Amino acid sequence: MTTITRFAPSPTGRLHVGNIRTALLSTLFARATGGRFLLRIDDTDAARSEERFVDAIRADLEWLGLHPDGEERQSARGALYDARFAELVASGRVYPAYETQQELDLKRKIQLGRGLPPIYDRGALALADAERAALEAEGVRPHWRFRLDPGAIEWDDLIRGPQRFDAATMSDPVVRRADGSWLYLLPSAIDDADMGITHVVRGEDHVSNTALQLQMFAAMGATPPAFAHTALLTGAEGKLSKRLGSLGVDHFRDAGVEPAAVTALLARIGTSDPVEPLGLDDLAAGFGFDRFGRAPARFDEEELAQLNTRIVHALAFGAVADRLPAGMDVAAWEAIRPNLHTLAEAVDWWRVVTGPVEAEAPLEDRDFLAAAAAAAAAIDWTAGDPWHALTNRLKEATGRKGRALFLPLRRALTGLDHGPDMAALLPLIGRERAIERLAKS
Ligand code: GLU
Repeated sequence: MTTITRFAPSPTGRLHVGNIRTALLSTLFARATGGRFLLRIDDTDAARSEERFVDAIRADLEWLGLHPDGEERQSARGALYDARFAELVASGRVYPAYETQQELDLKRKIQLGRGLPPIYDRGALALADAERAALEAEGVRPHWRFRLDPGAIEWDDLIRGPQRFDAATMSDPVVRRADGSWLYLLPSAIDDADMGITHVVRGEDHVSNTALQLQMFAAMGATPPAFAHTALLTGAEGKLSKRLGSLGVDHFRDAGVEPAAVTALLARIGTSDPVEPLGLDDLAAGFGFDRFGRAPARFDEEELAQLNTRIVHALAFGAVADRLPAGMDVAAWEAIRPNLHTLAEAVDWWRVVTGPVEAEAPLEDRDFLAAAAAAAAAIDWTAGDPWHALTNRLKEATGRKGRALFLPLRRALTGLDHGPDMAALLPLIGRERAIERLAKS
């Protein structure tokens, strides 16, 4: 069996960490099993769906390195939904209902007032043909409900384990509005069946939808996919956080976070595996839904930043060359890389190399730096290690050592107290600039 997963966002906004995680886990499972990963744009809600969000979703997935093996759009599949719908109406599993929203609200109030669960009473099913005809003659257009079969609805969730719902505790869900537009449940089940989706990954807020959709698969004579419902994401403080709903690719990119850091973190939080700076293939190799727990997964931006630093420190020049400032070569990258938290900081260090740098030496260092300028002019820069040549010569000439030797040089040469290893940095600064900076301090 070839596995097929899908990520099914509604294009009503940008992707946020929660749905990025869903897309990622769907991708990893497909890769782990040699299967396919589909992007399905759930755009049946014409009023709320926007083309710019479709484009943004594609671009966000691209940035994350999650490349779908195919793309489908629900708005192009209306004919299939109509056909399945007609079959379900013919078999009596979908029926017309005529209540207005006010009537339904009133029914609910009465049930709640009596201490009863607010379950739809199937008033529409009880209508005689003549009553229905009379309503239609008055111009009342029905919405449509899916009739649940009584009994237990059970499945073995890949993350949550055995699940059980009693259909008697659920209302027949509305699947189509009076204006003919679709609600989410039925088109999604039709698509999952028609596209041969074998594994659905989604948030645990969909668990009760799954119970309803399992009956829809059965009513259509389709084999349902397996389901993996992920636990909620919480913020660092362990609470549901509004902020997570707006954290997306733009934010990460602006903060200088590498896509690999986002995917490495989201692949492992909520699992029994450690967070490691791994690429998608390595993450896929160790992937299994059995690793995931039911407890909420904590998304901690501090942990993301630390992971990002580890990832940046392992990036090869070839992988980042086109994102580095012009002129920065492999030696410069390797000298500067250990000091970076984000790739964007490379620009700042490169500016230290190319200058100009601002440095004003204290009075007591001026003679020393003048001697340093003379030494820098005298040493052999072609021998490969000008920093040791320079500092050895100055140690002998001035008797300075340790901090008193190194710090004034670093300050004069870089304008800073800290930074990359001077032995790696000085060859990049080069003879002319070094002499000039030392002489001027
Ligand atoms: N469009 C639905 C959503 O964004 C898809 C849910 C699903 O994965 O079935 O919630």
